[in-house]
Amino acid sequence: VNISFFTEFSFIDFIKKNAPTLEGTEIVGIGDDCAVLPYNNTHQLIVTTDSLVENVHFLKNKVSAFDIGYKSIAVNLSDIAAMGGNPLAIFLSLSYPANLKKQWLEEFMQGVFSLNIPLMGGDTTSSESDIFISVTALGTIKKGKAKLRSMGKNGDILCTTGYLGASGLGLEKLLENKKSIFINDHLRPRAHLEEGHFLARFKDVHAMMDISDGLASDLKHICRQSNLSASIDIDKLPIPKGMRGKKSPISYALESGEDYCLLLSMSSHSFKKISSSFEKKFGRPLYPIGTLLEGKGEIEYFKDNNKQDIQFYGYEHFKK
Ligand code: ADP
Ligand code: MG
Repeated sequence: VNISFFTEFSFIDFIKKNAPTLEGTEIVGIGDDCAVLPYNNTHQLIVTTDSLVENVHFLKNKVSAFDIGYKSIAVNLSDIAAMGGNPLAIFLSLSYPANLKKQWLEEFMQGVFSLNIPLMGGDTTSSESDIFISVTALGTIKKGKAKLRSMGKNGDILCTTGYLGASGLGLEKLLENKKSIFINDHLRPRAHLEEGHFLARFKDVHAMMDISDGLASDLKHICRQSNLSASIDIDKLPIPKGMRGKKSPISYALESGEDYCLLLSMSSHSFKKISSSFEKKFGRPLYPIGTLLEGKGEIEYFKDNNKQDIQFYGYEHFKK
């Protein structure tokens, strides 16, 4: 017998190919940070859902209930930010074992409430032993203004709205029971909602997404969906000062993910203008890291203008 298994992405491809879909202009289904649906005369509804699973996404004895609650919502808001939208409401589904303490659940909910997004429903069930958290976030975006992964153009400058790698190093330190300023970056990621909303106003901003699985993996989605390749200038990666751990700073920046800043592409001739108005508003620049190029979805890495014979891989579920 031939036993075979889906990877995370091949399973999503299989679903996308076979699922019934909603047809219509400017409707977006599986494949982007959010689905884009009809809403009213001026706006569209954007919807995203993300799960956190005990022992996969968090260890209960290493992270406070409050932080898990906070992060469950923040990672969903990050997908709303990735489209350039505004959050509207959240739904929360929870499964947990009967022996989970009341205090843990109260603190978890304080973390959920701390982001101050209307919580409009959900579901609560028991589980055998682990905690499963699933959040759906709804947002709105002006009609036709959602920034999609497929909107990248040949020659676009790629940039990020924040530093890369801090969360990955923070996770490592947390698991080693060490103190580090980076642990907070891992536990309390900030969804770049204002940044996404600001950038979405520019028509020369093209593709946008949030960085959840690591730049090396997330950028592949922009490349494949825009039918382009990319080059990354390793020396330009925005790496925070003091990044010292088991791996190289570049590896944390490209492979470890969960930084939840935004990755975007824009016309090269508009970079100066958009970046300086971004800096005026947010007090920090956009970080240019590379270029979108003609090609078949490959990423090439350059150091001192020399092409490096190396590939990087972000996080993928079901991979050991
Ligand atoms: P993100 O990291 O931005 O949350 P994912 O990589 O999790 O996005 O998912 C990629 C796309 O696949 C999204 O559009 C998501 O809605 C879709 N997707 C993932 N899993 C499923 C599933 N089980 N059924 C339908 N769509 C799915
Ligand atoms: Mg996303």
